[in-house]
Amino acid sequence: MQRLVLATRNANKVTELRAILADAGLTLDLVGADAYPDVPDVKETGVTFAENALLKARTLAQATGLPAVADDSGLCVDVLGGAPGIFSARWAGQHGAGKDRANLELLLAQLADIDDAHRGAHFTCAAALALPDGTERVVEGHLHGTLRHVPSGTGGFGYDPILQPAGETRTCAELTPAEKNAISHRGQAFRALAPVVRELLG
Ligand code: IMP
Repeated sequence: MQRLVLATRNANKVTELRAILADAGLTLDLVGADAYPDVPDVKETGVTFAENALLKARTLAQATGLPAVADDSGLCVDVLGGAPGIFSARWAGQHGAGKDRANLELLLAQLADIDDAHRGAHFTCAAALALPDGTERVVEGHLHGTLRHVPSGTGGFGYDPILQPAGETRTCAELTPAEKNAISHRGQAFRALAPVVRELLG
């Protein structure tokens, strides 16, 4: 069976992509990058989600000699001209575990005087496929909504407690994982990538 490597150490992302590829009728041996511990960490030097996803997928494909998928995502706030964008994970300073709350609190403080009519925002996810022969593709998914003034919900991660998807009364952190996957930027990007995987690897 054709092996495909996903540039993540997050088992949930592997499970989500595996399910999406299976739904698309693709039987591939999908493994996370932790199966290849010697692959170097990638500096995210790109200035767009797509560039960073491609950088990660390309590095993994070259290091393993296998087709590789990578994603890069973040929150884009309309009134901030698309920020935090690619800086979402380190908006309040350093990268790392435990920074989610500080990032969210800083963003809420910055938007304190902005009323509901102008609190539009969306999550973006770029998903890239790179082959060892240099073939590359990238697709994007988006989840549009508005930002709450006060966080709500305990599910998810990152900015989930303040993003209320369009047409929803709950925040992303109040949705079940299945409900979020069905509409999320990452789910949409991975679903858009499935036919590309089929075209190049099927
Ligand atoms: P990554 O590219 O998956 O590492 O995500 C970068 C950052 O974007 C995360 O640290 C979060 O702050 C934010 N982010 C990306 N996707 C989501 C999401 O689904 N919910 C909440 N925050 C997200």
